[in-house]
Amino acid sequence: MTTQFKSLIQVLDFFKDETTCVSHLAASRWDNEPSCPHCGNVGAYITNRGYKCKAKECHKKFTVTTGTIFENTKISLRLWFAAMYLCTAHKKGISSLQLSRDLNITQKTAWFLLHRIREMLANNEATQLDGGVEVDETFVGGKNKNRHANKKIEGSQGRSAADKTPVIGIAQKSEYTIVERDHKVIKGRRVTERVYTKYSNVTLQVVADTTAETLHPIMFKNVKADSKVVTDAYRSYCGLGDTYEHVAIKHTEGNYITVGDDHTNTIEGFWSLLKRGIIGIYHQVSPTHLHRYCHEFGYRYNSRMITDPTRFVETFKRADNIRLTYKQLIAK
Ligand SMILES: [Zn+2]
Repeated sequence: MTTQFKSLIQVLDFFKDETTCVSHLAASRWDNEPSCPHCGNVGAYITNRGYKCKAKECHKKFTVTTGTIFENTKISLRLWFAAMYLCTAHKKGISSLQLSRDLNITQKTAWFLLHRIREMLANNEATQLDGGVEVDETFVGGKNKNRHANKKIEGSQGRSAADKTPVIGIAQKSEYTIVERDHKVIKGRRVTERVYTKYSNVTLQVVADTTAETLHPIMFKNVKADSKVVTDAYRSYCGLGDTYEHVAIKHTEGNYITVGDDHTNTIEGFWSLLKRGIIGIYHQVSPTHLHRYCHEFGYRYNSRMITDPTRFVETFKRADNIRLTYKQLIAK
């Protein structure tokens, strides 16, 4: 059913009213067996306005949106779902201005919706990467007038910039994965094309600085010992050889360099995607919110081999990731 979506129009046709949206959310969250967001108990009485927990020591009331990003929302779920589709389907993201026009809501509402959705896209799985990884850092943001040439935006530049925010990226090296494509009709016969594709995932973290004291603990947390770690020759990566098989690659001015099979092209390719998106769509991103943009770009990148509708359906599984209030959002 929902996995058959081919476009936004089909999404909106399917989620035609709030009742359909609510039952889809219930099926997606609970498999239709309501579980209490307060105590985790499975099983609830149906009330006029939602559910009441069956556990004696709890008996608390809840609805299908309690504990999700949709909790206490005044915006219809239909609009939420449309925003989720647009935010995850657009390769470079969608601005709050564009979303407000597309959905006929205020820009303030659109801005809030998008930040909540980004928060939902955070990768909270605490799995450690192994095998081979590429690690690199980049600087995002800053005022456009301080930039001189295009290559300053795209390329890897100085290691410190007063008005920029550093981000650490870890890319797991390519692995072969089966990707099932859509059915195609070839010479009058319907066939399913299976394509083996190389692809890699990224893990991102916004940091205060790029010192070894900051970088190394992030590595230890995210990458298993004895993995192969490829970086450039930046001094903060010195010492990683104690824990990892460390390959440091010297870069000449702005050139991508490969030594044997070792390179940092994957993560550098991702940086240019992130920066093009942030500069092209969002123009300027405040350091306070940068980590959420990283969630968004990371999520889309890591799910780039699946179709937009499938990604949209997958996104529902993260609805109870977190609920970001407006107060938290505007807090400095
Ligand atoms: Zn309960």
